[in-house]
Amino acid sequence: MPSLSESTHGAVSQLMPGSVIGIVGGGQLGRMMALSAKYMGFRIGVLDPTPDCPTAQVADFQVTADYDDREAIAELARRSDVLTYEFENVDADALDAISDVVAIPQGTDLLRVTQDRIHEKTFINEHGIDTAPWRAISSYEDLVAALEPGEIGYPSVLKTDTGGYDGHGQVVLHSAADLDAIDAADFPPSILEGFVDFAFEASILVSGDGANYVTFPIVQNIHKNNILHVTLAPALISTETARVATDLALRLADGFKLAGTLAIELFVLRDGSVLVNELAPRPHNSGHYTIEACSIDQFDAHIRGIAGWPLPAPVLLSPAVMVNVLGQHVKGTRAAIAAHPSWNFHDYGKAEAKHNRKMGHITILGPDPVALAREVDSTGIWDDLK
Ligand code: AMP
Repeated sequence: MPSLSESTHGAVSQLMPGSVIGIVGGGQLGRMMALSAKYMGFRIGVLDPTPDCPTAQVADFQVTADYDDREAIAELARRSDVLTYEFENVDADALDAISDVVAIPQGTDLLRVTQDRIHEKTFINEHGIDTAPWRAISSYEDLVAALEPGEIGYPSVLKTDTGGYDGHGQVVLHSAADLDAIDAADFPPSILEGFVDFAFEASILVSGDGANYVTFPIVQNIHKNNILHVTLAPALISTETARVATDLALRLADGFKLAGTLAIELFVLRDGSVLVNELAPRPHNSGHYTIEACSIDQFDAHIRGIAGWPLPAPVLLSPAVMVNVLGQHVKGTRAAIAAHPSWNFHDYGKAEAKHNRKMGHITILGPDPVALAREVDSTGIWDDLK
């Protein structure tokens, strides 16, 4: 096992090709991490309950068990030199319990902060970075008090503290009438956030080796039904907004002593100011464009960071648009392959194309991402999202 004290670069000891990287979670993010790790010569193990999951198809071995199966996590640890994860709801205590068996360069503090909205917002604000105004809510009475004028008030967004994603576990409150839909007796720990009237949503990725950090370009994200639909790279923002977003990303990375890739979701306001919405301690859907459009992609940067390899500054080689392929778009996109030689089709190898399930994505390079997004729209494949 590589010892963290034998650091040869940054804060993470350098892993050599042939070493084994264990990934907790076997979806598309793990698959794309594994593909990056593979070309660098690493071997890959994955823990996932679904046999032949997207990551297992490109890995050396799979431990087929639930993510919270401690014996299975221990087995993955024993068979790996370094452990990482592709989603944030991993049992941090279970990882701590095996930290003497395997290196976990990202540590578990990053997980604990990002899997709990109260910890996350507190961490962000303590680093001098703005979020929407928010209050921790542990009871229905807390909620009623936080909705008073002069407090958070209306409109606002109530979000469960843990476990929410893609808009699940959240409800917008426009007026007192919306309180009727809330079950006062069964109230999970939550936060109430002021509703942000943003100009658009954006994100920035930052990657590190535990001591040195690099950022990717800021991109604009368009969601449909709370699921990312399109990413436009780069976002059309002023140099000052870009500077602020880059600066906050580097500050957060330093706060975490980040190893690997962290995604930061942003709200860009009409005056160009920026609020942080949430963090993801891993590569992110809005960063898939980096595979073709940047000099180093978010998965390469993640693997280099956890492997203690130095990170080059990412350069945007071409503007790009990335569009998600959900279950209902699979047929249409497969039929489109023959007509679009310049579209980069990615498919995650999932067995079943369920409605709204992320099955793949398409990245197109070109000087005008907005025009490319219109071209994508004009195919009719994504008409259900209009
Ligand atoms: P989240 O799960 O926090 O990423 O929220 C999912 C989506 O809900 C975001 O991408 C926004 O489109 C929207 N949203 C979340 N929080 C707010 C807010 N405070 N104000 C306005 N829209 C929000």
